[in-house]
Amino acid sequence: MELDCLQCGACCYQRPGTILVPEADLVRFKGAGRDDILAQLEPGHFSQMAFKMNEQGCCVFHGREGAPHECQIYEERGTTCRQFEAGSQQCLEFRRDRGIDPPAAPR
Ligand code: SF4
Ligand code: SF4
Repeated sequence: MELDCLQCGACCYQRPGTILVPEADLVRFKGAGRDDILAQLEPGHFSQMAFKMNEQGCCVFHGREGAPHECQIYEERGTTCRQFEAGSQQCLEFRRDRGIDPPAAPR
């Protein structure tokens, strides 16, 4: 099944402090002059930084006008976001949790 991330965005809705931004990303953002991204981070789990969440429980960079599930910093997005695999078990779980896919059939 082909999954369209732009119609989904479920993995960008998480508990605060859990979409981690490792040190290497901080260096990369700094090097690219992206202080605007650095300003939208907060201390997260495991003594790492994380993307801030908005009032909807979603990453502050999630969505733009006309594309509600587009990442505003897609080219620069963090390693955690890059490594998250569309179609993985966790992806499918997030999709079901947000009602994008129907609940899993009971076993
Ligand atoms: S939950 Fe899966 S399909 Fe949805 S945006 Fe994330 S990776 Fe893409
Ligand atoms: S940086 Fe982009 S892909 Fe990563 S959680 Fe935020 S909106 Fe989603």
